Amino acid sequence: MEFYRHSLGADEKDAVARVLDSLFLTTGEEVYAFEREFAEYLGAPEVVALASCTAAEHLALLALGLRPGDEVITTPLTFVATATAILHAGGVPVFVDVEPSTGNLDPERVEAAITRRTRAIVPVHLYGTMCDMVALRELADRFGLVLVEDAAHCVEGERDGVRPAGLGDAACFSFYATKTLTSGEGGAVALRDAAVADRLRTLRLHGMTKNAADRYHGLYQHWDMTELGWKFNMSNIQGAMLRPQLGRLNDRLLRREEIARKYDAAIDQLDGVERPVVPAATRPARHLYTVWVEPDRRDTYLGYLGRNGVGTAVNYRAIHTLRWLRENVKVEHDLSNAESIGARTLSLPLYDGLRDDEVSRVCDVLAAAAREA
Ligand SMILES: *Cc1c(COP(=O)(O)O)cnc(C)c1O
Repeated sequence: MEFYRHSLGADEKDAVARVLDSLFLTTGEEVYAFEREFAEYLGAPEVVALASCTAAEHLALLALGLRPGDEVITTPLTFVATATAILHAGGVPVFVDVEPSTGNLDPERVEAAITRRTRAIVPVHLYGTMCDMVALRELADRFGLVLVEDAAHCVEGERDGVRPAGLGDAACFSFYATKTLTSGEGGAVALRDAAVADRLRTLRLHGMTKNAADRYHGLYQHWDMTELGWKFNMSNIQGAMLRPQLGRLNDRLLRREEIARKYDAAIDQLDGVERPVVPAATRPARHLYTVWVEPDRRDTYLGYLGRNGVGTAVNYRAIHTLRWLRENVKVEHDLSNAESIGARTLSLPLYDGLRDDEVSRVCDVLAAAAREA
């Protein structure tokens, strides 16, 4: 079975058709409505919709005052975009190791890595399990740092009563094709500071004082360009596609939790297959279901699962080992936990459309792989 299947249906088709029947295809009322509705869902005062999560992290760091050469502490156990966004924003990624139990950034190691040049921390809520945001917020306050969450996996997650954007200065989301909420491509920043949100709205569209919808309505008015911006806006087609999905998030999470419990039970019977720990007082968003096998056997598992019809992915090999980053980003800290997990990790299919017989089949094939592969 496929690694991922989206769950878009009649509601999203109707919403897109509504936009196609209207005059306005690009940023306008559908995007603004999605921003309001997603903010309400998250309990965050502001949401700014963008072209991608990569753009969201890039612009959030800039809008929060990152300057060229500032150090940004982040995890190497993530998608490359976390690091490329920091680089595009002019920052220097400083990779810090993860907790061996969760794969999330380790606050104690973060503290040890802070220097006079550190300006920001970018934690990633890996697989949908939130980092220890209480500890990271305390560090950010104590050292005067900006805290930008990569919440690409974590729309629905919660820990210690805190949700994404609850304690971070900004939380960045992805609506890429395989993410829980999806418009094929897309992203957003959630945040509490209205002035920073306004700055993001300017930066996402060339640094212009008006966007296309504003320019169209009413009498013509000249607009100005007040700073050097980007072309990172979201279209009404994307916004319309996202809106109906918000109401289904909770039911879909309940189904993924049910599947995760079945996987947990099956994996606990297997030798040589571990699963990440869910910390106390945490409700993971269950974006990815990831297991950690023995390091020299991971690719054998991948081959076995693939040959037996189970779609898999690797989230992620530690990114400081990838060629360009290896050659261009200096590693200053021990990253052995991230390297170890990166060599052992593989993700199983997890989405609400996965049927019980498919879940059982994944469990059977995984058990066979543990025995035979
Ligand atoms: C998907 C993903 C991104 C990038 O999202 P885009 O919307 O494709 O830019 C960033 N970080 C993580 C952890 C992701 O999984």
